[in-house]
Amino acid sequence: MSIQVFGLPVSRGVAIGRAVLVASSRVDVAHYFVPASQTRREIERLRRARDAVAAELSALQRDLPAEAPSELSALLDVHLMLLHDEVLAEAIMHWIQERHYNAEWALSAQLEVVARQFDEMEDEYLRGRKADMEQVTERMLRALSRDGMVAVSPVAAPARGAEGDAAEDPLVLVANDIAPADMLQFKRSVFTGFVTDVGGKTSHTAIVARSMDIPAVVGAREASRLIRQDDWVVIDGDSGVVIVNPSPIVLEEYRFRQRQSELERARLNRLRHTPALTLDGENVELLANIELPRDAQAAVEAGAVGVGLFRTEFLFMNRGGVLPSEEEQFEAYRSVVQTMAGLPVTVRTVDIGADKPLDRMTLQELRHEHALNPALGLRAIRWSLAEPAMFRQQIRAILRASAYGRIKLLLPMVVHLREIRQTMEIITRARQQLLDAGHPIGEVELGAMIEVPAAVMMLPAFFRYFDFVSIGTNDLIQYTLAIDRADEQVAHLYDPWHPAVLKLIADTIACAQRLGKGVSVCGEMAGDPAFTELLLGMGLRSFSMHPAQVAGIKQRVLRADTRKLQGAIERALQSEDPQTFWSTVGVRADDAAEAVVHH
Ligand code: PEP
Ligand code: MG
Repeated sequence: MSIQVFGLPVSRGVAIGRAVLVASSRVDVAHYFVPASQTRREIERLRRARDAVAAELSALQRDLPAEAPSELSALLDVHLMLLHDEVLAEAIMHWIQERHYNAEWALSAQLEVVARQFDEMEDEYLRGRKADMEQVTERMLRALSRDGMVAVSPVAAPARGAEGDAAEDPLVLVANDIAPADMLQFKRSVFTGFVTDVGGKTSHTAIVARSMDIPAVVGAREASRLIRQDDWVVIDGDSGVVIVNPSPIVLEEYRFRQRQSELERARLNRLRHTPALTLDGENVELLANIELPRDAQAAVEAGAVGVGLFRTEFLFMNRGGVLPSEEEQFEAYRSVVQTMAGLPVTVRTVDIGADKPLDRMTLQELRHEHALNPALGLRAIRWSLAEPAMFRQQIRAILRASAYGRIKLLLPMVVHLREIRQTMEIITRARQQLLDAGHPIGEVELGAMIEVPAAVMMLPAFFRYFDFVSIGTNDLIQYTLAIDRADEQVAHLYDPWHPAVLKLIADTIACAQRLGKGVSVCGEMAGDPAFTELLLGMGLRSFSMHPAQVAGIKQRVLRADTRKLQGAIERALQSEDPQTFWSTVGVRADDAAEAVVHH
């Protein structure tokens, strides 16, 4: 039967494919495909983990004190029985052999299947056995993570079957939640779409999905419960609708829309080499946001004139407790600078914390406690200043890369002047040490992300230290409106059109211009065509966005007249409902779209 689930559309387009369910777990579970040649090795890992857990359980049982309740021993018996259940073991191996999942993923996929079967049972006692299954799986996952045998290097795609085989079908990923670190693993994978139960429009999971330019819906609440492995799923990333097992007519309609949007993309692509000039001749800088060094190539291909935001924290994820050395970071930054061949590269120091935590192993290593309120806790520049050795290493790597091109250094979420002073001290010392050691260093501009209302109020003082600022609207909205950007329950209140948000953005642009400093927007608003004219009207001339969004924004720029837009801004800022005001009085440039593209 066909069902529909509704969520938040976060990445445009239509995806049609078979569902691959990723179960959530209390233990970090890596999800990747193993090469066909390595599946036996993966099964071997699984066997070893099973033996280790069996030994653990037997030892527990042996050492039970005499006065322990008999239920405890019976429980361990049940766990041992589950562990040795051949049918279960076969089913887990099936995921490895047929689907090429890694052992951890295979285990959690089977847990998901079994958990559903338990949920449907009438018998309350049997339903209760689900908890046992979860506990055994968790023990197995922990044993796998302790396993000395290094996991095989992940591959981007599962081995595909012969033509016409089910293994040829496109795949979409369905999960309760996907951590940004996991999303990164999927960045080169075969998935053609994503659905998650939780998440907001500017959660980092959504941001990474958008950077992959594949349709995604988040905050779809029940999706991972309603969708089953292998179900056919349509993901409408424009409206937020997810259709499970669609009828042939619906499927045909969506296939048609898929073809239409491919044509639209190809059409926009033709603007790649067109300079971004407004109708009145204003030059607008369209930059790219990247997460990994290899994204720089996409930035060049999209026609971006530089990198406006390199989210370096992604280099620190999926590392199993080992952080990248200065050398490794230097290579990463240098490769981006070289790919951009003389174009500016804005490297942001790590923005770890909030919805971008490091993996548990690294956190334990660094002795970081679980934060009570992570968005207000140790994140971004606060994190770096709390980890000075790590910060110094990153600063040195960035300064060294500056000898190979044009680097701008960007600090995330600055609030206090003393944070700036401490950072300046670290930079000055690192620079001197590098020069003493004979390392060449280029000119590096220093900038701050404006992400908190307090930073906007401090701008004149901040500009004594900074050459430029970049407005991180994702966080600026979160901290101005007190709305967790990753929480779908308050997503309806996360409003970029809120008059307070617009006023803070306009004030920042005006202040930077008055003082002759650079200003850019690198939050999601920069890549959303709904805001292009508004930001141009406020005086913004530098936008940074996902490479895939550059052409669409360029189209808006090409048909904008900033002189006309300026006039409407004052009234928009005074309006109680700027969104309605802007859509009626503001610029309706859509009509001119065709003319510009064919121009
Ligand atoms: C922002 O907050 O707008 C931003 C660009 O930074 P991030 O999304 O990485 O927090
Ligand atoms: Mg931010």
